Amino acid sequence: MIPQEHILRAENLEAFYVLDFSGTRKVVKAVNRVHLEIYENEVFGIAGESGCGKTTLLRALFAQVEPPLRIVSGKVFYRVNKEDVDIFGLSPEKKRKLRFEYIAYIPQGSMSVFNPVKTVRVTFLDVLESHVQGKARQELLKTAQEHLEKLGLPGKVLGAYPHQLSGGMRQRIAIALATLLNPRIILADEPTTALDVVAQRAVLDLLGEVQEKLKNTLILVTHDMGIHAAITHRMAIMYAGKIVEEGKTEDIFSSPLHPYTQYLIRSLPRIGDKTPRESVPGAPPSLIDPPQGCMFHPRCPYAFDLCKVETPQLVLCGEHHKVACFLIGGVNNERNPNFR
Ligand code: SF4
Repeated sequence: MIPQEHILRAENLEAFYVLDFSGTRKVVKAVNRVHLEIYENEVFGIAGESGCGKTTLLRALFAQVEPPLRIVSGKVFYRVNKEDVDIFGLSPEKKRKLRFEYIAYIPQGSMSVFNPVKTVRVTFLDVLESHVQGKARQELLKTAQEHLEKLGLPGKVLGAYPHQLSGGMRQRIAIALATLLNPRIILADEPTTALDVVAQRAVLDLLGEVQEKLKNTLILVTHDMGIHAAITHRMAIMYAGKIVEEGKTEDIFSSPLHPYTQYLIRSLPRIGDKTPRESVPGAPPSLIDPPQGCMFHPRCPYAFDLCKVETPQLVLCGEHHKVACFLIGGVNNERNPNFR
């Protein structure tokens, strides 16, 4: 059953990179009119090919918006003490306070989380000292050590430099750092990238365990559909800056509705099936000059005239299942006979 109390909501969110090449302005529409509602105590996945806007969406949800990225329109609300707080309207100090305490971000590549010339202890103490008042350093250090041990990680890593840790261990320490103050929302951006399968398993197990223990919300960005199948409750499929399908993970995998989602799922390897996998034809569109109409139409085998001029909206087409395709619940309800 899907819990209904939302903890984070994005309305009509547009986040663009505005680039200036010697006086020529280019606008990359990385997040294009995104609506999202994320619930308490769920694992929500965001999937899609590289460059579809997943990481930018996560940054916008975290309100980490620095030039050339700009929020062009829309709002993001966090549900704090039963009230919706407009995150873009907050002062830098209030935003800083919410970070780690209410929402935490695990960026791609754990090396960027830690200072390469300082021990892990320094980073943990920096976070604790900037959020916890009236405690001595020794007490804070004990808190950090206990937190690591609670997550099954050795407290002695506090004395290590980042380069002395394996990629998998560093990533798990980055997760421990993000969860140090028990935030209600954790945003994880491709947390298993560049790790071998054993380290990937350990990182995913830790994320799952943390979510179970803390009963918080995990928003997980990864292009790896296998990971979504394994740990997310609900998921969204992004294509060219837009969400094209959203629903319970089991429904997305058992009955994908958008042609793009169908390709993503058909491209997955299956045990015992040696037939060649089918990948998405063509290449993702330019986000500087995206195609008119449905962004997927140049690659879609079912595209018809309307798809080239009008943009399908994300509409409800089943319990908690939404899709943006004219073939389903859109302007044209007549299904294309070739559509599976
Ligand atoms: Fe394909 Fe048209 Fe549906 Fe877009 S709206 S996915 S082009 S059928």
